[in-house]
Amino acid sequence: MKYVKCGGEVFEFKLTPFKTHCRYCKQKEAEIKPSGTSLLLCKECFLLFCEKKVKMAIEKHKMFGEKEKVGVMVSGGKDSAALLAILKKLYPQQEILAIHLNLGIKYYSDFAQVAVEKLCQKLKVPLIVYNLKEKEGFSIDDFVFTHFKNKICSVCGTIKRYYFSRIARENKIDVICTAHHLDDVLSTMTSVFFQGDFLGLSRLGPVIYPLFQGQPKKVKPLYYLQERDVFYYSAISGLPIEKCACPHSEITPVKEWKKWIEEKDKESPSFKFKLFSIFRKKLIPLIKKELKKVPKEDFLPCKICQEPTPSKSNICAKCRRVKLLERVKERKIEYEPDEFLNFLSSSPQNEIVIFDVREKEDFESGSLPGAIWINPELLNEKEKIFIKTFKPYKKKKLFFLCYTGRTSYYFVLRLRKFGFLAFNLSKPKELLSKIKWKLKKALV
Ligand code: SF4
Ligand code: ZN
Repeated sequence: MKYVKCGGEVFEFKLTPFKTHCRYCKQKEAEIKPSGTSLLLCKECFLLFCEKKVKMAIEKHKMFGEKEKVGVMVSGGKDSAALLAILKKLYPQQEILAIHLNLGIKYYSDFAQVAVEKLCQKLKVPLIVYNLKEKEGFSIDDFVFTHFKNKICSVCGTIKRYYFSRIARENKIDVICTAHHLDDVLSTMTSVFFQGDFLGLSRLGPVIYPLFQGQPKKVKPLYYLQERDVFYYSAISGLPIEKCACPHSEITPVKEWKKWIEEKDKESPSFKFKLFSIFRKKLIPLIKKELKKVPKEDFLPCKICQEPTPSKSNICAKCRRVKLLERVKERKIEYEPDEFLNFLSSSPQNEIVIFDVREKEDFESGSLPGAIWINPELLNEKEKIFIKTFKPYKKKKLFFLCYTGRTSYYFVLRLRKFGFLAFNLSKPKELLSKIKWKLKKALV
């Protein structure tokens, strides 16, 4: 089983029979070595190992009490799936509610929602789905038309934090659980440290207490678990997850740091734990002590949405970003088959270029008239090579066609980030058969 993470990182699930008995149960064959340990465990005991680590985090940091209503943010990915399953197993009597935000990202969000619905059904956890496009009239995709086109993940983070916090408050949730694991926390800590953002660093603990009245407490029960173990937990448990990456996934500084930490940890196996412990036990307590002298931020209601904000302009970060969309006149990025055929017949041919990103033999056996074949592997190339291929067409309208609309959409989004006027062709099979029929008719 393979899992492609946002950012292109691939996780592979592979058990290794160690030809020895499990260290815990001493009966079954050991097949997994949990990260950063010398333990050799069988599958079942590995699950217990992960659950014990989560229980330890919850109890050590007093994350929630038995009477509190707990909300779990579920994205459709492996981390939040494992978190929900572990919490449900450890605390069957706790009031737990799953919350999913459908971000309106084409060829991704609806699949993620299906995975979340299946997960909640399997675990028998009530689910709230909040669809951004339906409820608010915008989607994360729309930000490709703003100056945030190269920072979509950052906008997405702001939007997610805002709605999760609001939904949690509206549903009287006391504690929000997020699925940040040790690797997430450590790479963010390193990135934030090198930005000199010590206030940000001090907030990266396992518990974030409310900054204003009514705000739920935020906790990270996977704080002591490494990402690979979280992935193995969801794979062994057969949890429904969306295995494809979000088309906006980009290499952020945090992801770069994560890669660097991973490499260092391979060179010296305790590197990760040492760094984690320096941040947690030495640096953060020191900063917290200093911060006591700094006056607390004032929170006032946002002028637009009324949610409390520390912003000096009294407009919260979410509203400032959403306001940018008001200036976008046209949010078109995809054409339906008939719409495209009409467009083709009414537009000068020299202004349009069509790219076919299917396999070469399929392109050769029939494509759109005048289409140029592009190897789909080009998507994995570095920025320079990718852009060089399309540079000659910078002033034209570029259209992309693939098998399902998904790969071509990845091309479109990547090109939009570099200022190209790129569009996706949806329902490609229907479009191709309509063109074929049109050409046949013209010949007759
Ligand atoms: Fe994740 Fe970025 Fe996609 Fe949002 S836009 S879901 S942060 S990859
Ligand atoms: Zn606001």
